[in-house]
Amino acid sequence: MDASPRPQYMVSLRGVSKNYGQRTIFSGIDLDVAPGEVMAIIGPSGAGKSTLLRCINLLEEPTSGQITVAGHTIQAGQNAPRREVEALRRKAGMVFQHFNLFPHMTVLDNVSFAQVRVLKRSREEANKRSLALLDRVGLADFAGSYPARCSGGQQQRIAIARALAMDPEVMLFDEPTSALDPEVGLEVLAVMKELAREGMTMMIVTHEMGFARDVSDTLVVMADGQIIERGDPRRILSEPVHDRTKLFLRAVLGR
Ligand code: ADP
Repeated sequence: MDASPRPQYMVSLRGVSKNYGQRTIFSGIDLDVAPGEVMAIIGPSGAGKSTLLRCINLLEEPTSGQITVAGHTIQAGQNAPRREVEALRRKAGMVFQHFNLFPHMTVLDNVSFAQVRVLKRSREEANKRSLALLDRVGLADFAGSYPARCSGGQQQRIAIARALAMDPEVMLFDEPTSALDPEVGLEVLAVMKELAREGMTMMIVTHEMGFARDVSDTLVVMADGQIIERGDPRRILSEPVHDRTKLFLRAVLGR
């Protein structure tokens, strides 16, 4: 049995900044996500939302600050031990706008691949887990198919299963439905909603305001590299305080 206490926060950012060359994308970001919390991040294009998410699982190297995911802490600018970087990354599953499945592998192999390569599971054990996860996202019948035979929504659900197969403690979603037709996006949102209901900690960059309102516990509004508003999604969506939030909501909600 795991006797270690559950951390107060699953994700903590302290003073996190990101520069590209001379350009500051964001700076001094502090953010905490509790275990089981669902956080939606919204804001205008170019605000730095995607870069922030990519810094959390170290796909992008933060310029300064400290990032903790599931008890693994990385201090920017210090040469973190490779093992710690990999451990942190494994705890943060990521789902992208584009699914990036391997076209030459079956759906089952796509979900099993990293389990065997990275987690050193046996092929049999990995496939068993993959089939259970494909079942969970409603795609058990597609295990032997190739990604090209699957719709965009199905491919994104496979990508979610692939991320879950690594047993992450938090799932990071970077606009997971924005490359999909609205109707197809709904099946992906349904899977995400189910994950949230089951208690998965989630951070979701999204343009789906209805989903943010109904599913997230906390809403974060980013603009021009800053968090300009954060709190209860219903409150922010109905009574935004910041002028920039009002402008953004007017644009996305068409009013
Ligand atoms: P959002 O997700 O809110 O739309 P992004 O995080 O994608 O915003 O981008 C924030 C800013 O960072 C944008 O101005 C973008 O051009 C810039 N940016 C993103 N990635 C890079 C990169 N690899 N090199 C330079 N600038 C980048």
